[in-house]
Amino acid sequence: MLYINGQWRDSSSGETFDVINPATGEVVGRVAKGTKADTEAAIDSAHAAFAGWAKKTAKERYAYLKKTADILRSRADELAALVTREMGKPVAESKGELGLAVDYLDWYAEEGKRVYGDTIPASAEDKRILVLRQPVGVVAAITPWNFPLAMITRKLAPALAAGCTVILKAAEATPLSAIEIFKAFHEAGIPAGVVNLVSGVPAEVAGVLMSSPKVRKMTFTGSTQVGKQLVRQSADTMKKVSMELGGHAPFIVFEDADLGEAAKGAIASKFRNAGQTCVCTNRIYVQKSVVKPFTEILARHMQALVVGNGLDEGVTIGPLINDRAVAKSADHIADAVSKGAAVVCGGAELTGGAYGNGYFFEPTVLVNVTSDMKIAREETFGPVAPVFEFETEEEVIRYANDTEYGLAAYIFSRDLSRVFRVAEALEYGIVGINDPLPTVAQAPFGGVKESGIGREGGKYGIEDYLEYKFLSIKLD
Ligand code: NAD
Repeated sequence: MLYINGQWRDSSSGETFDVINPATGEVVGRVAKGTKADTEAAIDSAHAAFAGWAKKTAKERYAYLKKTADILRSRADELAALVTREMGKPVAESKGELGLAVDYLDWYAEEGKRVYGDTIPASAEDKRILVLRQPVGVVAAITPWNFPLAMITRKLAPALAAGCTVILKAAEATPLSAIEIFKAFHEAGIPAGVVNLVSGVPAEVAGVLMSSPKVRKMTFTGSTQVGKQLVRQSADTMKKVSMELGGHAPFIVFEDADLGEAAKGAIASKFRNAGQTCVCTNRIYVQKSVVKPFTEILARHMQALVVGNGLDEGVTIGPLINDRAVAKSADHIADAVSKGAAVVCGGAELTGGAYGNGYFFEPTVLVNVTSDMKIAREETFGPVAPVFEFETEEEVIRYANDTEYGLAAYIFSRDLSRVFRVAEALEYGIVGINDPLPTVAQAPFGGVKESGIGREGGKYGIEDYLEYKFLSIKLD
């Protein structure tokens, strides 16, 4: 269903599309395929609601966000199961994601109260200078399927707290989770038009959003390829843009690291969400003297991973999102092996029996990986861990930075001086130091280079939804 101007509606064309469980191939829901006219209606509704919402006090907006968070929290079990049915991750991970999604609502409910302006010393005795912070206006948000709850609240919470109204186009693979968030907004009594939800053909919906002068900002999370296209489209109406795009995270293990912790960290970072996270490890660089013991510990920990339907007890890795994701992992492995890499464990799609019509892939470790292989250059977005060797600090910094991406990087070392030297030299927006899972609501999440523009989370994340207005006042 579409949610426009406070009402649930079908598509104006009456058309729908199916939502598929990637663990079983079953249809788990049917959703309205919105049209250009529906998207225009959503823009008009957000535009009409803007003045009223922007005028509300931060405390009033706080109450709506808090209530939405409480409603979502009260449905944690039901929502976690829905996320798992819709996109596959194990239920425990879905619950973790819900926790993060709600954290963004809680955090920005409060942060909206701290949107401060400035007074600036004037250049004349009879003048005063004030700087106001005001919401940018109508915001369009486009989100991916890999975190179908948290990617939405990470955008909508700061936008709403700042006083913006919103149109969301969620990923076509995971529209049901988005609908649940909007049900919570509706139940919390958020005024009509403040939040709007559309689904449909992505390029078509986005085309309407991008060409409308009423939409003042586009915030996008997804692939670098689509992000670049949206930035180009934003030029005609000079929209503000925030882009959270692809990653290609290096995970660097120095010989002085606690190898057990590093191996556990590599598993957590690489295989969470079956390797389908933008900050997940894509390249493991291990100092030559410890490659053998590290790889042995890693392979041992790998045996504890259980692939299956995320709804089943004990499963730690769910399916990939679709057949294209399976094909990409298989292609990266085949390319690496053809150029000299060796498979330590895993390496193939899992089919038949319990895997039925799902998109399952074995968690895989590759060794003898070199920089000429595809896996060294492209985001795999699957459960494949390639291990590269390096000798010196300078060398690994060069390898780590040799990519157009710059989202997250990880260092495992117990040498504090080295940690600072390397962390400062890495061209990344996020560096996890002996920490494979750094994302929290209060910290700035985002990348440099082709991984994006802007930051989400913390006091930084609300900035993108605010404008400055400079008042110059001449006194009598
Ligand atoms: P995607 O770019 O294919 O899709 C993301 C969103 O864009 C979806 O809502 C999709 O419907 C929409 N979309 C697709 N084609 C479009 C078009 N032509 N015009 C406008 N919108 C369009 O990415 P995905 O496969 O859903 O997600 C995986 C990618 O997202 C990976 O590259 C991953 O690294 C990235 N990601 C980044 C972050 C981050 O915070 N940096 C977080 C999660 C995922």
